[in-house]
Amino acid sequence: MREYYHVKKLKDNIYRITSLEGVYCDLFVGGKNALLWDTGYGFGDLKSVIRKITDKPLIIVNSHGHLDHACGNGRFEEDIYIHPLDMELCKAHTAEAVRRHAVKNSRESVDVLTGKSHNLLPKDFDEAAYYQMGSGHLCPVIEGHVFDLGGITLRVIETPGHTQGSISLVCQEEKWLYAGDAMNAFLWLFAEEACPLSVYINTLEKAQALGMEKLIVAHYPDILDIDVLDAYMDCARHVDYENGIPFDNPILPGYEARICSNFKMTQESFGDPYKASIVISKEKIDC
Ligand SMILES: [Zn+2]
Repeated sequence: MREYYHVKKLKDNIYRITSLEGVYCDLFVGGKNALLWDTGYGFGDLKSVIRKITDKPLIIVNSHGHLDHACGNGRFEEDIYIHPLDMELCKAHTAEAVRRHAVKNSRESVDVLTGKSHNLLPKDFDEAAYYQMGSGHLCPVIEGHVFDLGGITLRVIETPGHTQGSISLVCQEEKWLYAGDAMNAFLWLFAEEACPLSVYINTLEKAQALGMEKLIVAHYPDILDIDVLDAYMDCARHVDYENGIPFDNPILPGYEARICSNFKMTQESFGDPYKASIVISKEKIDC
């Protein structure tokens, strides 16, 4: 059986931690503190994975309140920083009913390429305990806050769109921008908590003006050149809902949304980070 978590060292003090569902968390280890960016679904023992890397006091930050970024919060006693506008969303997405849905999806996960179903849950998964884990101890954080870990600093910027309280981290030393789900090649902009399209476009403009060199997102493994934002912007400015492809998703069912792309989607283009799509509902289109 495959290990549930996989750790990749990007730099001496920066790691990417992946789980089998393809959600990425990032760990920064400074001279004083370590910082964990997102906690994933948390089906496995994420804390012991972190403790094998560092014993530094841990700061935890959620990029936003969605289940696949925050359900692991309940494995930690430490404070968990999140934007105030996503706190209620986080509580809702880490509640038992949502966790049950996530467990079911992971147990019957279908590979998009092969169509085969797999159980992704780790073998020591404690289902009953998982349902009761809650959201962790949430603390508000807003734009401008700087986490100084000692030798590495991470500045919070507000990047709404995907959710109202989505934040990103600016790693000034590396000129890397950590965006969670706030900017990516398959941007979801249809759920209740999503902002209108114009807000997402403002977020992209803000990110382009930061002078960063690389972009790191939560559902793609590799470090991207920052110019990938140009593709996202091109897609955002040319949303054509009428010709979009209807979107059927198992994670947030019940929303009518379409996939709007600035290219012709094929099997090969699926997963290409430079081919951008926005999954949007009609009511989010305001420009
Ligand atoms: Zn999300």
